[in-house]
Amino acid sequence: MSRIKDAFDAVAAAIIAQKDYLSDIDAKAGDGDHGFNMARGFRAAQEKVDEMDDTSLPGPVLIKIGKALIQNVGGAAGPLYGAAFVKAGEACDEETRMNIKSFEKLLAAAIEAIQSRGRAEQGDKTILDALIPIHDCFLPENVEDKNLFEVLQEASKAAGDGVNYTKEIPAKKGRASLVGERSIGVEDPGAVSTMLMYRALYQFLKR
Ligand code: ADP
Ligand code: MG
Ligand code: MG
Repeated sequence: MSRIKDAFDAVAAAIIAQKDYLSDIDAKAGDGDHGFNMARGFRAAQEKVDEMDDTSLPGPVLIKIGKALIQNVGGAAGPLYGAAFVKAGEACDEETRMNIKSFEKLLAAAIEAIQSRGRAEQGDKTILDALIPIHDCFLPENVEDKNLFEVLQEASKAAGDGVNYTKEIPAKKGRASLVGERSIGVEDPGAVSTMLMYRALYQFLKR
């Protein structure tokens, strides 16, 4: 048992609990499997993390999760989330602590992993429309005089604002881009899953 493992279990539980909701919103402009894909991937990742002897350092745990997601999630989001977890894990070093600077660094590595593979930008109605606003809250110019918990809370709100923004725009990447303007009015499933993961982590850390 470790705090890192417990934090991941909280994130996985949130995704598994919202499986049907995530698939329902994916059915509106995509193929209706996002919750199913994510739940399967996170269950597999939990099994892999359970098998680890040492879960005291974030790097190896994040890499283990990422590889499990890459191997077990069929859809577009799985390999992207998988790469994000692997690259965030690889960005960890002996300086990695629970602080604003480490969050900034790990989130930046995750975004770079997703963008180098998926070639999406903010505003394309993807995961990035929640993840980039979360990351922005941790940037040095936005954190002056704030403590970690104030920043974590701001980022929780930013994730929600990002999800709401995805309702107003057409998808430019992924399966939903095939239906063009018809994707307007529906939030992006990947942005929602990112928000749920982030908020589960935030709630866990706040306890
Ligand atoms: P699939 O579309 O293959 O069925 P999922 O339903 O699991 O896969 O995932 C869909 C989500 O993947 C979208 O809602 C979107 O957030 C995300 N996504 C798709 N393509 C990209 C991309 N190129 N960059 C970032 N995120 C993407
Ligand atoms: Mg889908
Ligand atoms: Mg699919």
